[in-house]
Amino acid sequence: MVGRADLQEFEDHLPDKDVARGFYAKYEPKEVLGRGVSSVVRLCVEKETGREYAAKIIDISDDESGGGHQNSFTLYQASQREIDILRLVDGHHYIIKLYDVFESSTYIFLVFELCKNGELFDYLTNVVTLSEKRTKVIMKQLFEAVDYLHQKRVVHRDLKPENILLDDNYNIKVTDFGFARMIAPYERLFDLCGTPGYLAPELLRASMYENAPGYGQEVDLWACGVIMYTLLVGFPPFWHRKQMIMLRNIMEGKYEFCSPEWDDVTEEAKDLIRKLLVINPMERLNANQALKHPFFLSIKTQAAKFNARKTFKLAIVCVRVLIRIKRYKYTTELISLETIRTAPYKIKILRKMVDGCAFRIYHHWVKHGDVQNRAALFENRPKMDLLRNSSQDEKLLHNLQCY
Ligand code: ADP
Ligand code: MG
Repeated sequence: MVGRADLQEFEDHLPDKDVARGFYAKYEPKEVLGRGVSSVVRLCVEKETGREYAAKIIDISDDESGGGHQNSFTLYQASQREIDILRLVDGHHYIIKLYDVFESSTYIFLVFELCKNGELFDYLTNVVTLSEKRTKVIMKQLFEAVDYLHQKRVVHRDLKPENILLDDNYNIKVTDFGFARMIAPYERLFDLCGTPGYLAPELLRASMYENAPGYGQEVDLWACGVIMYTLLVGFPPFWHRKQMIMLRNIMEGKYEFCSPEWDDVTEEAKDLIRKLLVINPMERLNANQALKHPFFLSIKTQAAKFNARKTFKLAIVCVRVLIRIKRYKYTTELISLETIRTAPYKIKILRKMVDGCAFRIYHHWVKHGDVQNRAALFENRPKMDLLRNSSQDEKLLHNLQCY
């Protein structure tokens, strides 16, 4: 008979336990960053280096095939595919980097680079809408990522603001390759997956009609169109509280650039959206074509317009203006000869001089400040000894007048 302690010891020595232990030995799990249907994403710290990562912990304990991983397409297999694709697309600046993988029969741990600024979805919720300039930066990065994925023959199938993360510099990282698939050049897919508001018409048709031709990588470009629309105005193009109506709107390509939200958006932005939200996938722009659309060319034009000489000249003018303003307080005012002649008392420096002369001549009228000497008040002749001093001031005045 096997005792409970023996059983525990036996379990502790299973290779799976070692795998989980391996993760916990290397990383210290912290708070939850996000949750999916069967996964939890936690912040974790690498014990040896103190570096932070995001660990996606997938619970595969309910998987039908368990550790066997055969038969039907299980969560384990789905996770394996996600890992394979993540490794295949590794190395692109705008795609999430997978650092480490730990697998057991109950859990899979995927250790990703950490995106401290979270989901684009939350960012958009906070700011409500994005400026065209900001949308341009994000969409350009997104098309570059999609172009790279498609070159690698991968279709993401779940592009949406929740699956686009923002790193420390607010650059995007496309994540969640749970629905991603490898696809051969002319291969067509038929399975229904993704998120309702972002589903392309041909994907819906493939799951509704038996003779539908299926879908390919173009579904990612449709999702990009929905994302771009949403970023600019803060609400999605096909949304309806009744999901059936929303899906019908998608299939009919029924959306509008409503007023007043779209009034100030440029024609280039609208044109790019129009060329992405095209019902026929063959007529839809691909990622490479989208990057060449005039909406993005204006970024380059602005860069080309940069003139180092002009900018430097402008900087010099700015500095000179600032110095002038700073010195203004201490700069002497230019006084015209006419003003000195006609109204010398208007000029502060002359006024002081005139007052000084008058005081020196008549100050004996004022006894110790404010008490007046009555007898002196009747003296109408200036004191003779002071007249000598005042003659110097008069000389000064005379010189000034000649100036
Ligand atoms: P699921 O397949 O379950 O949707 P995701 O890979 O999309 O799993 O991750 C779920 C959520 O966890 C994301 O929407 C995001 O909020 C958060 N998350 C995932 N990866 C990271 C990461 N590298 N950095 C920060 N947060 C992340
Ligand atoms: Mg997700």
